Amino acid sequence: MRAEDILYPTDKGLYCAPGDFYIDPLRPVPRALVTHGHADHARPGNGAVMATRQTLEIMAIRYGEDFTAARQIAEGPTRIGGVTVSFHPAGHVLGSAQILITPDNGPRILVSGDYCRAPNPVCLPFEPVACDIFITEATFGLPVFRHPDPIAEAARLLASMAEFPDRPHLVGAYALGKAQRVIALARAAGHTAPIAIHGALKRLCDYHVEQGIDLGPLVSATDPGDAQLILAPPSAFASPWVQRFRDPVIAYASGWM
Ligand SMILES: [Zn+2]
Repeated sequence: MRAEDILYPTDKGLYCAPGDFYIDPLRPVPRALVTHGHADHARPGNGAVMATRQTLEIMAIRYGEDFTAARQIAEGPTRIGGVTVSFHPAGHVLGSAQILITPDNGPRILVSGDYCRAPNPVCLPFEPVACDIFITEATFGLPVFRHPDPIAEAARLLASMAEFPDRPHLVGAYALGKAQRVIALARAAGHTAPIAIHGALKRLCDYHVEQGIDLGPLVSATDPGDAQLILAPPSAFASPWVQRFRDPVIAYASGWM
């Protein structure tokens, strides 16, 4: 079987014909395999969804328990139609996976989803997977993107907090993955005091803690007490919410520049 007969783009997303499923479909389909819980990959309304247990649980948190009619947890190689699929850690966010499609006769195709090869304290590390064809996300593939060392960035944040102890430090971070990574990096850099989080981050932070990710003491940004480090989704910075903080130092944790 040729690669172009196994997996090809359609208006609903990447489609695997011998397995009759889509990967991270753009529109509702009868059967979806989902790499991770970010909204540009995981959408509600599919007939059936196969993903890692954590991605399924994250989708339920974000979209409600009825985000799909049928959930299937990805556990080991699984036969779907004429192919075998398996999920492998992508190192991007909790539950994130690359999806390997192995036909009986033809090339093994690996769909990366979003992935991160740098150490990430909030999820399993990226797993190199042998394959014949690698379909990679390339969001930050342009050479213009030179991301600094995350540990050094956390040290810079803590240095600023030490230099300006009376100013709240507000960090914009997306609710799934980035927020928890910033918290874990701050903890690893030695920040043990309570960290305040915006209400929009709470459920996913709680979920990470349930999954065994140590985020240390967290308090509500509505009542931050002495917390000097405050995290909120980037959208909060364009709202009146930000005005409650006096003379804040504002930063964003994002790959975008
Ligand atoms: Zn993502």
